[in-house]
Amino acid sequence: MAPDPNIQPSTRLMGSDGPVELSGRAIGVSMPCPTCGYDLRGASAIGQCAECGHQVRDVLASAIDPQAHRLPPLADPRAVGDGLVFISLGLAVCVALPLIGMLCVWIATQTDRLLLDSRLVDLAMFIGAVAVLALGLLGCWQLRPRHKGPLQRAARKAIRLAGLGTLLMGAGLLAMPMLDGMVGLVGTLAAWAGMLLSLGGVRGVLVEAGRRCRLFRTATLQRQRIPTLMLTATLAGACLTGVRVARMVDPAAVGSIMWLSVLGLTMTLMLAMGLVYFVINAMWIRRDLRQPPPRLAELLRE
Ligand SMILES: [Zn+2]
Repeated sequence: MAPDPNIQPSTRLMGSDGPVELSGRAIGVSMPCPTCGYDLRGASAIGQCAECGHQVRDVLASAIDPQAHRLPPLADPRAVGDGLVFISLGLAVCVALPLIGMLCVWIATQTDRLLLDSRLVDLAMFIGAVAVLALGLLGCWQLRPRHKGPLQRAARKAIRLAGLGTLLMGAGLLAMPMLDGMVGLVGTLAAWAGMLLSLGGVRGVLVEAGRRCRLFRTATLQRQRIPTLMLTATLAGACLTGVRVARMVDPAAVGSIMWLSVLGLTMTLMLAMGLVYFVINAMWIRRDLRQPPPRLAELLRE
């Protein structure tokens, strides 16, 4: 439908300090048109792109984030962004490694060929455990509470829970290669409990810091919700623990609980995909915390 020529587009735009009148003002900085790439510097703020006709007002509206600017500033936004990325990466590694291990074991049982030397598996799990510990603890260190700032309580909770969770995940990964023993079972439980603790702990920081990132606030499909991750982790952990217990009780029953193994593997796969989105979300937030979007006044000149 063609735009109604009788309805004029608004010449005002909401900035962080209230509505700004755009008529008589021009773009004062280098700013590529999102449609064609033409540099809009000098273009009238209520005009159109000289190349493709894109409304300059729309380009301005998508470049600023007054909602984020109105929130109280974080004490150390860079560290918060880094902390979120480190913790999410640690969680992703904690799931990716056992998942690869499970797939290797599954392929080996299907083809009767061992894909990896068991010493290599042990070494990979050891390196993975060290990586999970390093990433998780580094993340907690970055989130350490600063004086003032709106994140103090959430950060304290994140450090307590994610710190303990990281230690459990690291210890669990170290114990996991002992596949069929009691130690392996305790290891699996410790790793899943650690994951739930870390997710629950970091949630408050993610939500509060995420309010400052428009992409995170407005994303629907690509935004990973922590409660969903926790539910998936719980289901995956329950299935895999069930398989281990069944195997310990009756090693011959492995065939009859195949469905449980497949369900556990599927849940773990879904958890891994969710964690990849969690890492991507954390990187969006980190980017906007490090380099907040410009204020409207910074983009305009008289
Ligand atoms: Zn254009």
